[in-house]
Order: sequence, then C-alpha cells, then structure tokens
Amino acid sequence: MYIKCWGSRGSIAVAGQEYNRYGGETTCIQIQAQSGETVIIDAGTGLRKLGLDLPVNSNTHYYMLFTHTHWDHISGFPFFKPLQDSSVTLTIYNSSFYTLSVKEIISNIMAPPFFPITMKEMQANVIYEENIKTSFSIGSLDITTIPLSHPGGGFGYRFSENGKVFVFLTDNELTFNHPGGRTIEEYTEFCKNADLVFHDMEFTPEEYPAKINWGHSCCTDVLELAMNANVKKLGLFHINQERTDDAMDKMVDMCQDIVIKKSSTMTCIGVACDMEINI
Ligand SMILES: [Zn+2]
Ligand SMILES: [Zn+2]
Repeated sequence: MYIKCWGSRGSIAVAGQEYNRYGGETTCIQIQAQSGETVIIDAGTGLRKLGLDLPVNSNTHYYMLFTHTHWDHISGFPFFKPLQDSSVTLTIYNSSFYTLSVKEIISNIMAPPFFPITMKEMQANVIYEENIKTSFSIGSLDITTIPLSHPGGGFGYRFSENGKVFVFLTDNELTFNHPGGRTIEEYTEFCKNADLVFHDMEFTPEEYPAKINWGHSCCTDVLELAMNANVKKLGLFHINQERTDDAMDKMVDMCQDIVIKKSSTMTCIGVACDMEINI
C-alpha cells in the first residue's frame, strides 16, 4: 500500500519559512491500492496539489472519503482540477455530518456567495455512493470505519491490504467523549497491530488542559494508545497552525523519548506534506 500525505496541518493552512519542512496544507491523504485504485481521504487545501499530480485519461476513476466536513477538510475541493475534466469519474462516499450529507455540503459551498462555479458546471462524472457500511472494499483495499470523538462526529478509517494495515484517525479526542465517540479501548482495538497509524496529536501535555473538548488529542494519550495497540509506526497528524518546524521537531523528539523509556520498538514521525510511505 502506497500512502502519500498532501496536507497534515490542522484548522487552517499556513505559509512561511518557519513551516517549510512540515508544510502548511490542510488534510489530504492519497492511498494507492495495489489493484490500481486511487483513494483520497479529505479535501483540505492539499487536494489542489494532488489534483495537479494525478493522471487524467479516459479510464480515470478516483474515490474520495471524508473524515468530516470542517473547513480544513473540505476547502480544497473546489480547486481539485480533475473536476474540470469530462474523462474523470469521481466516486464520493456520501456520509452525513451534522444534519447534511457530503453531497449537500459540497453543493452548498460551491455556490454564490461562497464560490462562483457550482457543482453542476463541473465536467467530471461525480457519483455519490450512498449507504456506506462500516466495512467495505475499494479494489484490493478492505476498509473499516469507526466514529470519531469530535464536535459533530466523523469517521476514522482502517485500510488493510495483503496483511498490511494503515489507520487514519484525525480530529479525534481520546480523553473526552464527544457524542457518538468511542472509548479509548475501542480506538486501541481499531489500531491493533497496524503497520502505520496517523493520529491527531495536536496538543502537548502543557497545552491540552486549556483545550479540553476542542476535539483534538494530547500527544501523550495517543502514544500510550499506539504502544498498547502494538503499532509499528505512529505519525503525528493535525499539526497546530502555530507549531513551527522547530517546535514540531521538539514534539516528535519528546514522543520518541517516551517510546524509548517505555522500551517500545514503535517509531514516531511528524507527518509532513509530500511524505510518501510504502507499507
Ligand atoms: Zn481538522
Ligand atoms: Zn474537525
């Protein structure tokens, strides 16, 4: 399974030389199945650059999943260039957030006064896949979902292919139970034996007490979960908008130190824009 990060910043895109190494684009992940399908998770600002990189030809079919529809996870959608190409088919998994479906939310933001071009004017063939089950497949990828502990809810995803597992859990607060959220034990089970987990680790232990119930996790809580779940590699995700590259390096080092002290073999990385991982 090939995984590429096109955006790992939380809440709002940032720019400037203090953000060069981890990047400033908001959530967008590309997964390439061995059977050929391209799966995209979230349409944060990173989606624009992914759209420029994807091939467009008569067989082009892309699949898009959403964790939820807060701004930082949808604002790249109108700038996804393949939407302007009639040879492209895009299947969007049409889950509901708050009281609206993804289809309604996208149609709402792609209309005046927010945006001058509507979905109806886009050339691509957009298909909405209804009634998503808690487990389904896209090509050789077997996918299961879990509800997030986040304001308004959302979904985490576990991708399995040929015995390899990638779990994507962002905008998930482990120690505060938002309506619909699951217990730490259930999230631990969801991450069990994963080769790679990207998890929301927005806050340090010093920052977290002032941010309880904001919908994001303290990094030490995630570390504990990942070690208990026997995760091989953990990626710190949903990087706070104020966190510079140097501050992020410090956070990753602190996490890695804790892992070593606990005699775990897990590795910790900060997930940067343009990072590619094969598992
Ligand atoms: Zn977010
Ligand atoms: Zn959110």
